[in-house]
Amino acid sequence: MKQRYSLVPILGLCLTISSHAYAKNAEENKLAVKPIAIAIHGGAGTIEKSRFSKEQDVAYRAKLKEAVEAGYAVLEAGGESLDAITTAINVLEDSPFFNAGKGAVYTYDEEHELDASIMDGRDRQAGAIAGVKHIKNPINLARKVMTDSVHVLLSGEGAEDFAKRQGFDLIDNHYFDTPHRLEALKSAKQKLEAKKSGTKSYQAAHQALPSQYKMGTVGAVALDQHGNLAAGTSTGGMTAKRFGRIGDSPVIGAGTFADNRSCAVSATGHGEYFIRYSVASDICARVQYQNKSITQAGNEVIHDVLAPIGGTGGVIIVDAKGNISMPFNTKGMYRASKSSTQNTYVGIFKKD
Ligand code: ASP
Repeated sequence: MKQRYSLVPILGLCLTISSHAYAKNAEENKLAVKPIAIAIHGGAGTIEKSRFSKEQDVAYRAKLKEAVEAGYAVLEAGGESLDAITTAINVLEDSPFFNAGKGAVYTYDEEHELDASIMDGRDRQAGAIAGVKHIKNPINLARKVMTDSVHVLLSGEGAEDFAKRQGFDLIDNHYFDTPHRLEALKSAKQKLEAKKSGTKSYQAAHQALPSQYKMGTVGAVALDQHGNLAAGTSTGGMTAKRFGRIGDSPVIGAGTFADNRSCAVSATGHGEYFIRYSVASDICARVQYQNKSITQAGNEVIHDVLAPIGGTGGVIIVDAKGNISMPFNTKGMYRASKSSTQNTYVGIFKKD
């Protein structure tokens, strides 16, 4: 006689085993912390410790800390790297300390012209704007170009027309005025006039301006829990810039680059060199094709490629494992970082 077995207990056993396995996996997933990381910069240049008062030092560090932690909070809550970098950059753009948004430098004609760009490491989507005069937070408009236009780079009045249609408020150019930047413009112009003697052109005179007139800029790079990298940069460009000059900051591959397969980079420095040497994408290419670490790739480009030809500045870099590197070849670079394995770090000078 055939014995008949009930399938119920067997099914029950299977369910129990698989639910145990599921619970174990969920537990392991929780324990396997997904790395998150963010780094920001507020410009590189001749930042002399001796000319920096104690109060300034405290105030700059506090603002950098506020920005990096605001961006980190987005990542910690499970947010996207694009949101984290935008949040951090907005804090820096709204501060008069940095050459971006409020606090942007003056052009030769005593106006402000702003540039910004953003890149998504998932699919290399990118957006950028150049030479806008009435956008409070240029990084937000760069992001809108990425998400809501079929273009990568919009400039001047066209970019502002696009902004209006996307619901951005256009603000008065005087919003960006600050007494210390006006002072810097006046002294830059005096130096330009002094150097412009004889056959020297405006360009040659500008080339000879000390580096503090050519630096500033803010930027951020981040890795989120989903493994996505993003980079963004926002700037007022160079003091006394003229003829619609555009630097590296809105140029994808020069001032900004992100690709999940390599790294995310935001640059600050003498833009013309950063454009000519495709600094941001060169660093990521060394990581991707030569299997170099971001520290090695960043040091090579900043110290071995740029420094010997007089290209001053620095970069912030983050990779897909959450490593952070922030090399610069100037006296200082305003910078800060935080990751799932590292507490908040804030630095200004080389020895910080
Ligand atoms: N790279 C920016 C530019 O050339 C300036 C800066 O980073 O300070 O416009």
